[in-house]
Amino acid sequence: MSSTVVIVGGGYAGTMVAKALDDRADVILVDPRDAFVNVSGSLRATARLDWADQPFFDYGPLLTRGRVIRDSVVAVQPGGVTLADGCRVDADHIVLATGSSHSYPARPRTTATSAAAAADDLRATNEQLSRADRVLVLGAGPVGLELAGEIRDAWPGKRITILDPSPEILPACLPEVRDELRRQLEELDIDLRLATSLADLPHAAAATASTFTVTTTDGEEITADIWFRTFGSRPHTAYLADGALVRLTERQTVPVDEHLNVIGHPTVYALGDIADLADPKMATQAMTQAPTVIENIAARLRGEQPVAVHEPATTHRILVPLGTRYGVGQLTSPDGGAIAAPVDVVVARKGTDLFTARFAERFGRTATAGIDSTGTAGDGEGSG
Ligand SMILES: Cc1cc2nc3c(=O)[nH]c(=O)nc-3n(C[C@H](O)[C@H](O)[C@H](O)COP(=O)(O)OP(=O)(O)OC[C@H]3O[C@@H](n4cnc5c(N)ncnc54)[C@H](O)[C@@H]3O)c2cc1C
Repeated sequence: MSSTVVIVGGGYAGTMVAKALDDRADVILVDPRDAFVNVSGSLRATARLDWADQPFFDYGPLLTRGRVIRDSVVAVQPGGVTLADGCRVDADHIVLATGSSHSYPARPRTTATSAAAAADDLRATNEQLSRADRVLVLGAGPVGLELAGEIRDAWPGKRITILDPSPEILPACLPEVRDELRRQLEELDIDLRLATSLADLPHAAAATASTFTVTTTDGEEITADIWFRTFGSRPHTAYLADGALVRLTERQTVPVDEHLNVIGHPTVYALGDIADLADPKMATQAMTQAPTVIENIAARLRGEQPVAVHEPATTHRILVPLGTRYGVGQLTSPDGGAIAAPVDVVVARKGTDLFTARFAERFGRTATAGIDSTGTAGDGEGSG
């Protein structure tokens, strides 16, 4: 009799594990959404109407044998999971890959669980943005920077200001990457203000056109017509908060061992943003962790001892496109250190299509309407 593998969360890591094990076990993927979200595309989808549907990939074609249950998991026991509708799904192996939250539009609103509703939200925000001459972005991490770059690409005339309390931009990057980023932001006329913030968030609702004036902690007044929050991310682990399976860390992440087993549970795994690992919380890391889980479950399915071990990342790889023609990043050099990525590499590997072609392949989507023939995911470096 075939073993059942229940995968909780159909994101970057979960869908990779599900697809890889589909022909070796009875795979059940559980997610409240009807489609995988390639969040890398969500910021361009905010700025460009022709991208509104691009970040979403229907789960339908992902699995050949397995099935997808559209629901949330509310509790996990070593032998199965409980769904929000009260049903229990028994499992021989469980993979927890529920990712993390981020403010809209970086991630879809939790109320928009269908791809159609999430794309409608993006179209509505695009319309709001089109009416705003002055844009305020709170947060100068990769999400805030990419959002500003996408807005500039779509609207050359808008005034764009980014605020961040940190004194340094992309602190985990090489100094030359940060210098190049500042140079490009200046060329793009994006006003970056570091070491300053707002005592209070604007009264106007985020991502909604409405003129407001705020005062920074430096005492400067900024008037804008729309604002976006691009900071604050939390792991999706509330369904484990009762401690019945494992005690979460202070950061609400899931403690795992080197095999990516949840501590104390040889048949339960956790990976991606929820795993308490030193790896940066990035899709590229989630997908680098996935083969360890796949190999270890495959070994158990064959009746062998699982031996695959995950080695945390030693360099910080990241690609930060600023629209389709600009961007900075750093990659791993041949000697294992970090090296600055030239702009053409950033554009080719990520900026052109934001990995859409790669996920089109995973999800069997043939036509990518709205993306022209330049769309290529580069050589598979999933950083960014
Ligand atoms: C705007 C933006 C751009 C980014 N760009 C990049 C990039 O270019 N490169 C990069 O490496 N990283 C990028 N990141 C980071 C990256 O998106 C995350 O690190 C990645 O999504 C983590 O993958 P994951 O598989 O852990 O979870 P996710 O991909 O977030 O998937 C989690 C899934 O679990 C589901 N889920 C949540 N709770 C439950 C539950 N209780 N029951 C069932 N299902 C549940 C969710 O619906 C979701 O489908 C970006 C992040 C943002 C916000």
